[in-house]
Amino acid sequence: MQPSTSIWINSTLKDVWKLKLSDKVKYFLWRGLTNFLPTSDNLVRRQIQIDTACKFCGHCKELVVHLFNTCKMARGVCKELTVQEEIEGAITFQDVFEQRKCRLPKNKFLIWVTYMWDLWYQRNLKTNGEPFRAAKEITSFAEGFLINHIYAPEQWKEISSRILV
Ligand SMILES: [Zn+2]
Repeated sequence: MQPSTSIWINSTLKDVWKLKLSDKVKYFLWRGLTNFLPTSDNLVRRQIQIDTACKFCGHCKELVVHLFNTCKMARGVCKELTVQEEIEGAITFQDVFEQRKCRLPKNKFLIWVTYMWDLWYQRNLKTNGEPFRAAKEITSFAEGFLINHIYAPEQWKEISSRILV
């Protein structure tokens, strides 16, 4: 890791803990930003032999940037959120995170993060051969999660009327 990259990561990680998100979602972000999510590319780097195909689409390698940016599942989730479906030229999770953070209004960014957290959970269910949610269901689950854990229902009503249209 280049020194400039590690400075960026350290200050970003500090910011992550201040976000108005559940600790579970922050922990997911921390793992993503430090390359500790056990996606195929990260496991192969640690010399672990596994099937490297994406669990959702099956025809791409499961690079972390594919899973959260270019996979049809990630694109479907972004479509539900009415945000740009793909960050072009992103190579790492950090790139996707940074671009989303810069381009989205803060509340919408927090919702996007929560969607990605649930996408990761669904990916793990699919990997274990268990039933998993489709993109549309991920978005309703993530909204429910935000209402139950972060925002009061009236607050959410106000936020969603502004951003989920
Ligand atoms: Zn895929």
